[in-house]
Amino acid sequence: MNTISMLINGEPSQAENGATFERSNPLDGQVATRAPAASVADALRAVDAAAAAFPAWSATGPGERRALLIKAARALEAKGEAFAAAMAAETGASGIWAGFNVHLAANTLLEAAALTTQINGEVIPSDLPGNLAMGVRQAAGVVLGMAPWNAPVILGVRAIAVPLACGNTVVLKGSELCPATHGLIIAALQEAGLPKGVVNFVTNAPADAAAVVEAMIAHRAVRRVNFTGSTQVGKIIAMHCAKYLKPAVLELGGKAPVLVLDDADPDAAVNGVAFGAFANSGQICMSTERIIVDHKIADDFVRRLVAKANSLPLGDPRLGPVVLGSVVDSKTVERCNALIDDALSKGAKLLCGGKADSSLMAATLLDHVTPAMRIYAEESFAPVKGIVRVNGDEEAIACANDNEYGLASAVFSRDTARALLVAGRIESGICHINGATVHDEPQMPFGGVKGSGIGHFGGKAGIDAFTDLRWITLQTTPRAYPF
Ligand code: NAD
Repeated sequence: MNTISMLINGEPSQAENGATFERSNPLDGQVATRAPAASVADALRAVDAAAAAFPAWSATGPGERRALLIKAARALEAKGEAFAAAMAAETGASGIWAGFNVHLAANTLLEAAALTTQINGEVIPSDLPGNLAMGVRQAAGVVLGMAPWNAPVILGVRAIAVPLACGNTVVLKGSELCPATHGLIIAALQEAGLPKGVVNFVTNAPADAAAVVEAMIAHRAVRRVNFTGSTQVGKIIAMHCAKYLKPAVLELGGKAPVLVLDDADPDAAVNGVAFGAFANSGQICMSTERIIVDHKIADDFVRRLVAKANSLPLGDPRLGPVVLGSVVDSKTVERCNALIDDALSKGAKLLCGGKADSSLMAATLLDHVTPAMRIYAEESFAPVKGIVRVNGDEEAIACANDNEYGLASAVFSRDTARALLVAGRIESGICHINGATVHDEPQMPFGGVKGSGIGHFGGKAGIDAFTDLRWITLQTTPRAYPF
């Protein structure tokens, strides 16, 4: 078992009252981690520390911030094995997924390092004689970041990397389901030598989340909030942010459609769909959740996809390499078993996998899914995926858009101009042509529409999100006033 601390003002910190909570392994129920259960006062202490560190950190030059973020990327990479062990213990994730997480998270820090010299402004022509007018981007203040468990290294780093690069100080609220994994990110940043108070880390018991989160959002030093998690909680965060007038980036749930048009390359489509649907056992916000395939090619495509799904190894990730490890908890199993029962009772056909009796869930495909079935609309966030057969591109687009979410999507077609037209009509923040719905790079504008959220994290969009745009003028000649 791993016992961890929070980090407040550069010091390892326990909760004021000594309270802790535990996270157990989803497969065998063994306690994986014991973590401090922050009180509201602890969480506010973390914000105070970040506020105190802000003046000095925001005044550092880009070269200094860049050097520290590059060091942090290296320190993070060096912890690859520790991350894999923590992820397997806390969330049941496979080694492949842990490796990918560390790789992309390190790149996210490197990209943030590169952005430090790109926080530029503009000179804007003024009608006032002798007036030099500038639009200047500057650090906003304390940024509160909240990250989930499913891609814990990538999303924990994403919540704080660009904010730090822009000169903000941060508080990361770790997930209750992977406090040790999130704690390793903080350890890497500390090893890199970030000054005390620049990065703070808070962990809380699940029952305290609502109070701790609202108190931090309400703190007057918090000037930006970012949250990655479910749409349900995202709406609560949005309401707090409205109440306290705090700008927020919200990266929420998804139900990514992949459209397999009648001229799709079958191998490319099968490989892309299988990766998109089953990477990390389908527990990715960009996971392929709806496989929309043209009737003309459906039988052949489905046969090939089932063969691929059946070939994916499943098992306890602590015992060796697998593609599908454990899902995060038994609630996921119960939710998916109910989705499968519902679909089968309404006429769907089970092609592979099926209901599970442990958190080891096999790749599961349900064919002939219709809008009457819950799985048509609800996020499974697990390796249970529905196939909808459609006639032609118009029906495929209508089906893709018939959903509350709009994060990622994909189109497979050999006619790239046709695919581009289809992509343009899909209501999603992200669309990949002839590629899987699961694809992330730190320099890209990552974000959703509709129920999938508001705002972007990546690249220059991240600078816009985590800086204030100010209008500053300099009067260079005597100015005439009307009185
Ligand atoms: P979740 O929304 O259930 O939990 C996220 C956090 O919300 C928790 O750690 C908890 O501390 C906090 N919380 C819970 N109740 C709260 C309340 N009443 N007030 C304030 N905070 C509260 O999400 P999760 O299970 O951790 O993550 C899975 C979800 O995240 C999926 O829906 C997935 O699609 C989404 N996700 C989105 C992205 C993206 O980039 N769009 C990435 C990964 C995951």
